[in-house]
Amino acid sequence: MNPRSTHGTFLIAALLAAPFVLGRLHAQAAAPGNVFGYKSFDRELSVEEKFLAVPDASLAGQELKTLTAAPHLAATPEDRKTAEYVAQKFRAAGLETEIVPFRVLLNWPKAVKVEAWDESGKQLMSGPTREHVDGDPFENDPRVVMPFNGSSASGDVTAEVVYANYGRLEDFKELEAQHIDLHGKIVICRYGANFRGVKVYLAEQRGAAGVLIYSDPQDDGYYKGDPWPIGPWRPETGVQRGSVQYLFKYSGDPETPGVASTLDLPDSARVSPEGNQPHIISIPLSYHDAAPILQALKGSGVPQGWQGALPFRYHLGPGGVKVHLLSDQDYQRRIIWDVIGKAKGSEYPDDWVVVGNHRDAWVYGAVDPNSGTASMLEAVHGVGALLKHGWRPRRTIVFCSWDAEEEGLIGSTEWVEQHITELNRAVAYFNVDVGVAGPDFGAAGVPSLKQFVRELTRVVPSPVSGTVYQQWRLQHPGNQEHRASDAPALDESEVRMGDLGSGSDFTPFLQHAGVPSTDIGSEGPYGVYHSTFDDFAWFTENADPHFEYLQEMARVLGLEAVRMADSDVLPYDYVAYAHAINAYIETVKKKAGENGLGSLDFGPAESAAARLAAAAQHAHDLQIAANGDLAGLNRTLRSAETALLTDAGLPNRPWYKHTIYAPGEYTGYSAVVIPGVSEAVQAKNSPLAAEQLQVLTQAINRAAQVLESAR
Ligand SMILES: [Zn+2]
Repeated sequence: MNPRSTHGTFLIAALLAAPFVLGRLHAQAAAPGNVFGYKSFDRELSVEEKFLAVPDASLAGQELKTLTAAPHLAATPEDRKTAEYVAQKFRAAGLETEIVPFRVLLNWPKAVKVEAWDESGKQLMSGPTREHVDGDPFENDPRVVMPFNGSSASGDVTAEVVYANYGRLEDFKELEAQHIDLHGKIVICRYGANFRGVKVYLAEQRGAAGVLIYSDPQDDGYYKGDPWPIGPWRPETGVQRGSVQYLFKYSGDPETPGVASTLDLPDSARVSPEGNQPHIISIPLSYHDAAPILQALKGSGVPQGWQGALPFRYHLGPGGVKVHLLSDQDYQRRIIWDVIGKAKGSEYPDDWVVVGNHRDAWVYGAVDPNSGTASMLEAVHGVGALLKHGWRPRRTIVFCSWDAEEEGLIGSTEWVEQHITELNRAVAYFNVDVGVAGPDFGAAGVPSLKQFVRELTRVVPSPVSGTVYQQWRLQHPGNQEHRASDAPALDESEVRMGDLGSGSDFTPFLQHAGVPSTDIGSEGPYGVYHSTFDDFAWFTENADPHFEYLQEMARVLGLEAVRMADSDVLPYDYVAYAHAINAYIETVKKKAGENGLGSLDFGPAESAAARLAAAAQHAHDLQIAANGDLAGLNRTLRSAETALLTDAGLPNRPWYKHTIYAPGEYTGYSAVVIPGVSEAVQAKNSPLAAEQLQVLTQAINRAAQVLESAR
């Protein structure tokens, strides 16, 4: 027990006694003391008080310790053990639990080699060097997998090297402007600024033979602060493993886009994995191994912004150094295990509230993802205590422990594809991946759920003082940069929540199936991402020594589920959604003008957005009144999100069906909003932009029509 932790019960009652406004200023607010989505909150208040009292910091710490005792890469026996552990916790809480297997294509490394020589033939390095610091208790386990990239091709290449900064589209354009040809070359670029698969995608498009992706100390090493084990930042030999799957094409098992890769799926139903796999080698590298290559590299000096924190001047290449890459990858269909636990709804059993976190890790995964798993297990603990007191959620709550997220959101994607019909009625998906890396709460979500998350955080105590919401507001805005939103806030005094791009398991739910989603996490200085050093020792030293942020995240995540599951009226805020869509359209319209596409007619899309805003206000009034056929109203509210999907999907990536949110083809992690139009405008493709404007306009009109029909 930690003396600093506050009890939830007192706070929630105190806050509800105060006449704080739970609707928003622009809309008719709910009566003081009421919560949006509830006719009366009295009964639910006591449910939430009981729930908040249960998640336990020291139990969460024990759970994290158990989950991270051994490396548990997807499909290994150790991963299976964590599945059984989670299943046992789900069952103990009274959830109907099953372990759901899928057979999916995964690569494990047989051999990875990187060697470099200077012009005289002198060997500069031979790696990868094993990750090592003095004083980490976990690093010497023989089960620590050698650094490699999920989805890397196999191959053997010796070539000259070119430095491409972060490997962003603009970086490759700069190399083009300098007439540097990448055909047959090895591109070396640093981590950061985009998803690593995008770096490989852009290099492959330009004819590169291989890619080295290294962690520059400027981005998460000594330039930021003391490296592990002194501080939280990346030590010299730390490597960021990771998937280079082209997940902006589709996520999940490469051989089964749109289809669940169940054990009985015949091979004939599987397709070539080409669709989301790179064709060239890529290997991740520490700065210990990258430095000799970069230091020997000749050619022009880099633009100033390309200089990292290694102690010499960087050059673009080619020349000065030759590199040999060997990547021997064992591609097999391997069995992975999702764990699914249900608390059946008493009134609307077919309406699911889905809560999910991945369990598999590149190595130990203390922060990523098992801080999220421990938080989810304590949320399950809380829900279990309610069930034992005879409570039933009104809608079914489904807790999901995903496997093989690291290789490309595979466990979640296959499960979504398996349940695509039932998910038409799923009212929300609440994700947590990196649950706790430090004390700074952050969240992203669809606009309709942003206020819902803010309101929840007003009744969860912060380990510092006051509520999660109060601490969230006090943060420096810079902390929230990677949870960016392209829409200005409806209420500028409100704390910002980001838009959903990709990089975690909400992608199949929102962007393929159209389930309204959120993603939460508590962040801080975290330089050991996807290295062996993301272990229990690092976690207790740097992230959360007393596990009180695990408790905080358990409370927020569990409250999302409980409050959504029990609501009378689904608490979606379509007024905010319409406002965001309108802002996205105006931003892209401006961009179109700058890109010489000024003749594009944005009028119909703007009218559709205005129509959606009016329809949303109509729906909001009905949500506040909460009279009559609420089941019918809820179905209508839910189908407005589905109406934003397009059957045909996005250009060149039909698996992505959402017209408002997708991972950017050139960003990967961060969202591209109104992606069909945005990317056509960015590519200065006027006919495609015109066509996609029409697709968008139709989708917004469909959503408006749905909300207009609300009674
Ligand atoms: Zn993760």
